[in-house]
Amino acid sequence: MQEVKKPKKPLIFYYVVVLLILMLINFLAVPWIAQRRIKSVDYGTFMEMTEQKEIGQVQVQEQENQIIFTDKDNTAVYKTGMMPDPELTERLYEAGAQFEGEIIQQTDPLLAFLLSWVVPIVIFVALGQYMSKKMMKNAGGPNAMMFGMGKSNAKVYVKSSEGIRFADVAGEDEAKENLSEIVEYLHNPGKYKEIGASMPKGILLVGPPGTGKTMLAKAVAGEANVPFFSMSGSEFVEMFVGMGASKVRDLFKQAKEKAPCIVFIDEIDAIGQKRDGRIGGNDEREQTLNQLLTEMDGFEGNTGVIILAATNRPESLDPALTRPGRFDRRVPVELPDLKGREEILKVHARKIRLNDQVDFGKVARMASGASGAELANIVNEAALRAVRSGRRYVTQADLEESIEVVIAGYQKKNAILTDQEKITVAYHEIGHALVAAKQTNSAPVQKITIVPRTSGALGYTMQVEEGNHYLVSQEELENKIATLAGGRAAEEVVFQSASTGASNDIEQATKLARAMITRYGMSKDFDMVALETVNNQYLGSDTSLACSAETQAEIDRQVVELVKRQHEKAIQILMENREKLDQLARYLYDRETITGDEFMDILNQ
Ligand code: ADP
Repeated sequence: MQEVKKPKKPLIFYYVVVLLILMLINFLAVPWIAQRRIKSVDYGTFMEMTEQKEIGQVQVQEQENQIIFTDKDNTAVYKTGMMPDPELTERLYEAGAQFEGEIIQQTDPLLAFLLSWVVPIVIFVALGQYMSKKMMKNAGGPNAMMFGMGKSNAKVYVKSSEGIRFADVAGEDEAKENLSEIVEYLHNPGKYKEIGASMPKGILLVGPPGTGKTMLAKAVAGEANVPFFSMSGSEFVEMFVGMGASKVRDLFKQAKEKAPCIVFIDEIDAIGQKRDGRIGGNDEREQTLNQLLTEMDGFEGNTGVIILAATNRPESLDPALTRPGRFDRRVPVELPDLKGREEILKVHARKIRLNDQVDFGKVARMASGASGAELANIVNEAALRAVRSGRRYVTQADLEESIEVVIAGYQKKNAILTDQEKITVAYHEIGHALVAAKQTNSAPVQKITIVPRTSGALGYTMQVEEGNHYLVSQEELENKIATLAGGRAAEEVVFQSASTGASNDIEQATKLARAMITRYGMSKDFDMVALETVNNQYLGSDTSLACSAETQAEIDRQVVELVKRQHEKAIQILMENREKLDQLARYLYDRETITGDEFMDILNQ
């Protein structure tokens, strides 16, 4: 969509321009006009006029090294250069000259008056008239805001044929279905009014970052062919209290004029946070929120203004904002599932030139947990990689490598590992893969590599889920912990020592074990009691404990026990398969990267 409205220059800009023009007139034009009226003559003429007593007024300007004088009747002004002449004053006195302070200014008082008083006043009055007319037209009233402050500055997109459509947003079928009702309403409001149904005034799009919330809002506007006002929540909050509220008023006024239209407020949590009355609370934010609440109450349900807002922290929103009559509909925009990922990849792959044999299904399986924005990034990384290696098409390998770049960073070209380090990393990675493969329920291994990455990983084992997983059993979780422990277990089995390489595995294993006990009710002692709550559903798994100190100690004890049990299981598996472990680690050490198939072949020999 094209943007049609640029932010206007503030009024102060015009005043400064006028002031500059006036200063130019006063400093340059006035002296110039005065100078032009002065006739230059030589010193001889001056002497002659003095002798013949034809001189009226005289002014000696020593600094400029010149003498300015008039004729007897003070009608013409002359100037001449100065000469060393000690008796000049005496002779002038004898000639009857009058010694005046300022000859030039006296030359034309009317012109000077006109230039320095009348012209500026006329300019200011004209400008004032022009601006007030313009503001009345824009703001619809004489009390428009000074200096452009308090204007919403919302970006306005108008209907355009190449706007984003629902077809551009892959996956997210439920959200699209929900929003298409809005489109239908904007196309044909009469149908709804007839029955007496009114559209929700506000719709809240909630979901993790990068899942296409902004895109969906634009697509609604594109499909409905109506103007689209877009503003971010943080743009409302200003340094001065009251400015944000005034911006909200302005935005709604503009929207009502353009109705039917869509107003989109991104990151609404910036203004819509709970007003919890904390000391030192943010006055400006609260006023802005209050204004938003009032405006949303103020317009009727059927005016044709639909407000869409996006946030990834729905739980932090003020309850007054989410009550029926304001944002009364909530559309979840979740991370895409396997099919969704494949579709998103295909949508973005339309823009790049592809080799025929690309298997999007496989790429989508590898990129489990990726958001739409990450998938778009993966496709772009792949295209960049193809250009870098001088090819004209993007291949499957490009896409797979770019997933690894997004997960683990670029390959480190000049990281030099010692032989001992390299063999340790090889055993560590094979340890993970072997434990995963030997536990029947673990996902098969896709790829194992010991090429260091810029993220700091010295190697990694990529596991790929075959389909969508919505439920995970206790056994699967335990196996996962065992797989994570597999790396360290292999080091212990082979070298009887531990290294720092397992820090990330340890962190993940602990998190899983803790969640099993405190949130999933998978421990005997605590039964189905929630001991921990998740603070934010969409932004990382931030949790807070809700239990007594004794219970906390007991949780810690159980977490340790759980992880220990799985660690021992991993050691057990590796000891039983010691031969395969050595064989595979050696193979990986030689090749640096092996595929899942190669791994399974050796394992099943
Ligand atoms: P959000 O507002 O949820 O943070 P955006 O709508 O800004 O995310 O999405 C960012 C980018 O990610 C989009 O420009 C688009 O390229 C890509 N994207 C996200 N979701 C999808 C999707 N479902 N289909 C196609 N592209 C998507």
